Amino acid sequence: MNKVDYLRISLIDKCNFRCQYCMPEEDELSDLLSSEILTQIELLTLLKKVFIPLGFSKFRLTGGEPLLRLDIVDIVRQISNIPETEDLSLTTNAYLLEEKASHLFEAGLHRINISLDSLHPKTFDRIIGNKSKSRWQKTWNGIQKAYDVGFNPLKLNVVIIPGVNDNEILDLASLTIERNWHVRFIEFMPIGNAELFGKKAWIDSEDIRQRIKAKWGLEDSFIRGNGPGDIFKIPSAKGTLGFISQMSECFCDRCNRVRLSADGWLRPCLLNETGQIDLKTALRQGEKIEIIRQKVADLLLIKPDINFKQRDSGTQNDSYQRTMSQIGG
Ligand code: SAM
Repeated sequence: MNKVDYLRISLIDKCNFRCQYCMPEEDELSDLLSSEILTQIELLTLLKKVFIPLGFSKFRLTGGEPLLRLDIVDIVRQISNIPETEDLSLTTNAYLLEEKASHLFEAGLHRINISLDSLHPKTFDRIIGNKSKSRWQKTWNGIQKAYDVGFNPLKLNVVIIPGVNDNEILDLASLTIERNWHVRFIEFMPIGNAELFGKKAWIDSEDIRQRIKAKWGLEDSFIRGNGPGDIFKIPSAKGTLGFISQMSECFCDRCNRVRLSADGWLRPCLLNETGQIDLKTALRQGEKIEIIRQKVADLLLIKPDINFKQRDSGTQNDSYQRTMSQIGG
């Protein structure tokens, strides 16, 4: 059985972008009340007394937009100071990164993933649901700042939506030629915007790879901190390319992660809503920490079953109840 030692932690469900594939504007998403969100103390209690004793050592901070959390630098410092933490990373849209990058780095964060779906301000603003002054340049400045501060490898997450940004596959891939960046193409999933997904569907990784290969060729490669993606590079490029193919390929056998939502729900499988447990309520009701730990241990035991058996049908009424921003993408 695969060792599950990686926890993705959503720090907040709110986001300053409304990406059309994640939090479409038409959807009335109600934000959690701040009292419903795990406090820093509750989060650290869960890490130190539940997850670390069960063998977890890799943590990713995400959201919503984690940089909206006012205590983000402190949270990074606290987690990076835990001796058992082997790897700490963060996923952000980079809009607030220019001012926060050096503080995060100094607090002990050295790996970062940034979502960037377009190099064209107009397309970018359309994808993120922005109708006022373009937000592209500030986002790009945040990316550059993270690179200058020393985040390495600097990873860019790209979701390709047919008819929206598929004409930019080569431009986005070419960012890796001169820069030591890692560009990851993530297959669009039907979580968050089933309607857009239904209309346009997704482009599979193999198709994207073939387009890049036809232009430059592709060779196998590797990268530190790699999850369940396949890694390649354009010959003689400084950076690398990754492909996260959760729609076209079942990589449950390589899955080493579970997700903790901002309101304390532990979810064993991204593509499956069964088996989730509410750790926040357990903590707040004063349940003994040994009992909470045992519940998590039991969930880890049945995770492979949930992954494999219900991966394709793990929804209620054929649509997911929570968006990626609510689960912790
Ligand atoms: N706000 C941060 C950001 O933008 O990176 C972190 C949260 S966001 C939910 C994390 C990742 O989930 C992003 O890279 C985003 O592209 C991805 N994501 C959200 N909805 C998705 C979907 N339906 N299919 C594939 N990826 C999705």
